[in-house]
Amino acid sequence: MTSYKPAESPDKTTIFSYHDLTPPTTRDIYEARKIVRQYLPSTPLVRSESLSATLDADVYLKREDTLPTNSFKIRGFYNLVDDLNEEFREPGLITSSMGNHGQGMATAAREFDVPAVIVVPETLENPTKTDNMERLGATVIAHGRDVDEAREYAEQQAAEKGYRYVHGGNEPHLIAGRASAGLEVMADRPDVDVLINPVGGGSSAAAYALTVGKLLSADVIGVQASGADAVYRAWKDGVIEMQDNAETFAEGIKTRTPFALPLEIMQEHLSEMILVEDEDLQASIRRLLADDSILVEGAAASSVAAAFQLRDKLAGKTVVLPISGSNLSMSKLRTIVAD
Ligand SMILES: *Cc1c(COP(=O)(O)O)cnc(C)c1O
Repeated sequence: MTSYKPAESPDKTTIFSYHDLTPPTTRDIYEARKIVRQYLPSTPLVRSESLSATLDADVYLKREDTLPTNSFKIRGFYNLVDDLNEEFREPGLITSSMGNHGQGMATAAREFDVPAVIVVPETLENPTKTDNMERLGATVIAHGRDVDEAREYAEQQAAEKGYRYVHGGNEPHLIAGRASAGLEVMADRPDVDVLINPVGGGSSAAAYALTVGKLLSADVIGVQASGADAVYRAWKDGVIEMQDNAETFAEGIKTRTPFALPLEIMQEHLSEMILVEDEDLQASIRRLLADDSILVEGAAASSVAAAFQLRDKLAGKTVVLPISGSNLSMSKLRTIVAD
């Protein structure tokens, strides 16, 4: 397994020689869509009457929560596993995840009959997500205090045991596959002016930036939680720095590390990045539940919270807010609804 020695990475994460840090081309994205389409339906783009009225805009929700595993993450894995090098089929894939990334990988791995190992933090913030990964046939290992420590362990295991290490962001195949959502938005709403998307590792914001942003010249805006703003800072300053802490109840965007590839794409094609407070995420969860009858998790609520923050800019525009996932744990739901 000596040919899979970690390579020098422009960020603080480990990459292997198979990690190509070239942004996917438009052609790559259309090719990826052909594969994704074999496994997944297009997701609905549904007008929200309540948000349209409140924000004085035409607001559409891209319902990524309707995909299998209830988040957008799964889109990229079909494209990645479809192109998996033969020598990784037996050892299989390894990644680290707070939940949705792992569930997506487990689903695609099962489809292609490839083993999947997922390292989750010991805190197990969302046990349902972990249980689902096991139900999908993945091996789940709990390690580290957060997803970044889990990632370091997964990187080490990959180097030792020859798994294909699936990076959370430095994977052109994942970004190209996830960009199929942007192509769907372009087909359904070519008049989109603004799209606001959560940023964790940045793969999906980069994917929308390469489609709705680059190809339609719409404004693609990224959002992070104010307590987990590593990518926001890197995007503003142009310096990749890992933070010591990340604090937010929205585990889907709770990360301390900017990833070089999505960051590079976002710097070129994202028009803005903003921060929202956890209390605004919670208010947005309550609002979507009460007014739109949609359950969202914390990370997904950030696009709606950001739309409220930017309301002056959005008036009169066609706005797309991806609902990135709905895997909210029962305990978090109880606390949020009781407030
Ligand atoms: C992972 C995730 C995000 C953030 O996506 P990135 O591509 O990592 O930036 C947002 N929302 C949900 C529900 C997620 O699972």
